[in-house]
Amino acid sequence: MSDLKVTAPQDGIVVSEDTQPNSVVRFLFDDHGVRGEIVHLHEPMQKLLECVRAYPPCVKGLLLELAAAAVLIAATLKANGTVTVQIQCGKGPKALNFAFINIDKDLHFYGNVLSDEIKFTEATFREMVGQGGIMVISAFPEGGTRYQGIVSLDKDSMAEALADYFKESEQLATSFLIQSDVANAQAGGMMLQIVPNIEGNLESLHHLTTLAATLQPQELFELSLHESLRRLFWNDKVRVFDPEQVTYRCICSKERIFRVLAALSNDELSDMIAENKGIDMSCQSCGKVYHVTIDELKDLLTAKQQSAQSQAAPQASAPQASAPDAKDAAPTPAAGPTIEV
Ligand SMILES: [Zn+2]
Repeated sequence: MSDLKVTAPQDGIVVSEDTQPNSVVRFLFDDHGVRGEIVHLHEPMQKLLECVRAYPPCVKGLLLELAAAAVLIAATLKANGTVTVQIQCGKGPKALNFAFINIDKDLHFYGNVLSDEIKFTEATFREMVGQGGIMVISAFPEGGTRYQGIVSLDKDSMAEALADYFKESEQLATSFLIQSDVANAQAGGMMLQIVPNIEGNLESLHHLTTLAATLQPQELFELSLHESLRRLFWNDKVRVFDPEQVTYRCICSKERIFRVLAALSNDELSDMIAENKGIDMSCQSCGKVYHVTIDELKDLLTAKQQSAQSQAAPQASAPQASAPDAKDAAPTPAAGPTIEV
């Protein structure tokens, strides 16, 4: 738990010493039976936006909001494992295909948007998710059972859709506030949720949500998270916990690239080697390009052939590469969404 120390005013705004960007802070209203989280992300969002450079600002904003939401959700579900938040878009002239954020228990995340050619520059949340769009939240707790919840995105904003999700899937009254600032590569938000079985918790949630709704993007992005809380809930006793760092980190690596290549047939590898120039493979999540040299391809083929010989049983048929599991699928030259599952 932290105290809420604030330094001298600066340009009329009280600025705390530590602005705590790129963090999520949990808090608890003991007297009200309401818990909450507040998040502000900047540097991780700069990296996330590099994945969607070609998209218009509205699409970038959607991904930023999804990332802020995913951080709040990951902390809420206490999954102690990976959480994936996906938007599977429906139909419509401005509907995207798919957007996702994956986030692990240490709050490292990555994500992307997938879409056919985009012929618009402006679109609302409803238009981008399209008619029939859904949000799928999946949690993969370490050593636990996979959990999945689905909610319709027939809403005007991501915050409304998320509130609906928790009401329908978790039976927990929850409110969300999500804000994004594409021009300055930042996003953030707040979640408030009842603590079950405490008298008056729903009324308190309503009261605190009304206060939270007055939080302006400028305040969220310029003040420390603690100071934002202090301004909003100055009249309510709130217990605030230490900030937890949030980082952008894609799961791709050269090793993963090699595992994907190892799953190709020897003929396919031979064809690549015959081109005599190596290959470039890009990560579908972050767009990072990995160059595989001709020598690396040759080594890979040799290793596969030797491995097949040593494993071949007398009656075995032609050696086959084993298919990569889904976790290894991130880097691949093929098109289509890729998500760690
Ligand atoms: Zn990557």
